[in-house]
Amino acid sequence: MKKIIGILFVSLTLQLSGCATTTNSSVSGVNRSQFLLMPAATVDKMSAQAYSETLSKAKSKSTLNVDKAMYNRVNGISKRLIAQVGVFRPDATKWNWEVNVEKNDQLNAYCMPGGKIMVFSGLVEKISATDDELAAVIGHEIAHALREHGRERMSQAYVQQFGLQALAAVVTKGAIGGAAVKGAGLGSQLFFALPNGREQERESDRIGLELAARAGFNPDAAVTLWQKMSAKSKGAPPEFLSTHPASANRIADLKALAPKVRPLYEAAKAKK
Ligand SMILES: [Zn+2]
Repeated sequence: MKKIIGILFVSLTLQLSGCATTTNSSVSGVNRSQFLLMPAATVDKMSAQAYSETLSKAKSKSTLNVDKAMYNRVNGISKRLIAQVGVFRPDATKWNWEVNVEKNDQLNAYCMPGGKIMVFSGLVEKISATDDELAAVIGHEIAHALREHGRERMSQAYVQQFGLQALAAVVTKGAIGGAAVKGAGLGSQLFFALPNGREQERESDRIGLELAARAGFNPDAAVTLWQKMSAKSKGAPPEFLSTHPASANRIADLKALAPKVRPLYEAAKAKK
């Protein structure tokens, strides 16, 4: 039995990850093969449910989009970024994108699978983020969604939690068992509890930088953003930094890629 599962696992892994990469290769050069066991529709459904629960909670606490000027600013920047996602994956232009701002002192932002963006007011206020810097963060978060890093993390967690037998059942039945992944609770739990890996972060930095440049935002802002974040980490480190260490590597990588996406930025600016 073990052997059969082993073979199933290998063939499934090859089948799923051997040819699966969620985004088109572009200037940023991201083309890693991915392990995507969970059906995208399942992940998107869980994500949409968890997001709408977050919105209702924020609404009931009167913390949702309370600062209209800030909301308009964040929404405007996000819209420009979203207009460029087709370069990386044409299907994402048809996603049901949503943008919201929550009044919350944390320096944080996220984009859930399927394009559900949330920016915390603390991120805008505490580092006096410029439009270019906000575009760098939001672009990075959008890149996580485009690369389906959440789905990848959930797939890995599924295998770890339910084991190879569950995986074998997926192969024979062609679908994931209902009970195990039912409910937005598990969806949001998986999404928020599992941090992105270092490679996923690197991919999002690169795609986010290109996305922002294509939308006409200065790529140098990614570097100043991380420097501002680092400066804030003395004393009480911002939430965002606990999952996004502003390492020297990260800043060096962004600095190295910036000249490559600069022509995209210049072209976008010339068009405006
Ligand atoms: Zn990230």
